[in-house]
Amino acid sequence: MNDRAKEAPESGRFAPHCLSIDLEVGIKDRRIHQFAGVRGDDGRAFIFDSGDLDVQLAKLDDFAEGCAFLLGHNLIAFDAPYLAAAKPDLRLLELPMVDTLLLNPLAFPRNPYHHLVKHYQDGQLKRGRLNDPQLDACLTLEVFRDQQNALRVLRQSAPDLLLAWHWLIAADGVTAGLNAFFMTVRRRSRPTEAEAQTAIERFLGGRGCLNHARAILAEAKQHPWALAYTLAWLSVAGGNSVMPPWVRHQFPEAGILVRRLRDTACGDSDCAWCRDRHSALKELKHWFPDIPSFRAEPAHSDGRPLQQCIVEAAMGGEHVLGILPTGTGKSLCYQLLARKALARRQKPLARRPR
Ligand SMILES: [Zn+2]
Repeated sequence: MNDRAKEAPESGRFAPHCLSIDLEVGIKDRRIHQFAGVRGDDGRAFIFDSGDLDVQLAKLDDFAEGCAFLLGHNLIAFDAPYLAAAKPDLRLLELPMVDTLLLNPLAFPRNPYHHLVKHYQDGQLKRGRLNDPQLDACLTLEVFRDQQNALRVLRQSAPDLLLAWHWLIAADGVTAGLNAFFMTVRRRSRPTEAEAQTAIERFLGGRGCLNHARAILAEAKQHPWALAYTLAWLSVAGGNSVMPPWVRHQFPEAGILVRRLRDTACGDSDCAWCRDRHSALKELKHWFPDIPSFRAEPAHSDGRPLQQCIVEAAMGGEHVLGILPTGTGKSLCYQLLARKALARRQKPLARRPR
């Protein structure tokens, strides 16, 4: 990690050695019309709104001299590719990148949202004025400062969560900036896989099914961001929590992982979570309090009532075809499952803020 990145954030003064970048790109011509770079360390700004783009980008490169990382809101998916297309030899593109758009759902998983970010639409900044890249670059610095403060609080209150995120999203070269960022926040190096797995399992204890958690962890490298956002949502689930629609749109696995962890029975009778959350008998008593138990007949060869077998199989995520004689309670099976499913739909993962 760069020494400068290490020293800046712990001081009372917020002056990260970064260049905060914002571009204005034409909707039709897809070309850079304006840009601004604002230095986090001394507040100086470099602005381009006319002239030779190539020359001005070269000057921006000089302006970024000494910066430890690039900062931007949607930097990795938007600004950086446009900069690379306009001037592939920019030295600043070799700097580690920190993207505040990606960090936001981790730093602020709970309502109310960060006041500068439109979580409910696309996670973009609430702009003061249209086409003002300097203002947006400054706003990004402000968001970054608040994200850092919010995540630092977790060092005491949720160290496992912070450790998990550090391991999940600082894995490769693209996210070298995020590794430095998390090293700064946690005051620790990136954890090992074993440390991360232990921390994630500990974090999920009581928040989801550990059998599913282990299976998900085994494939964590395939969807690190989705799992990071899943953990963020689980950290506040039950409160006034929201998984932003743009997260659900861009990382659809996050919603799938939440459902797998919380709403799908693993079938292991030793699993405390599933025993408690996915008991067919418990659901029966909850939704049909006047019916004390499933009908004893017809029964499965293992002795369980067939009604119970059907409900448990469906709760475990299986496709089920239930064939029972007339009058033996088929309707109860689907009505129970439908009520349970409806209740879940009425508690969506994401709600539009009021
Ligand atoms: Zn389970």
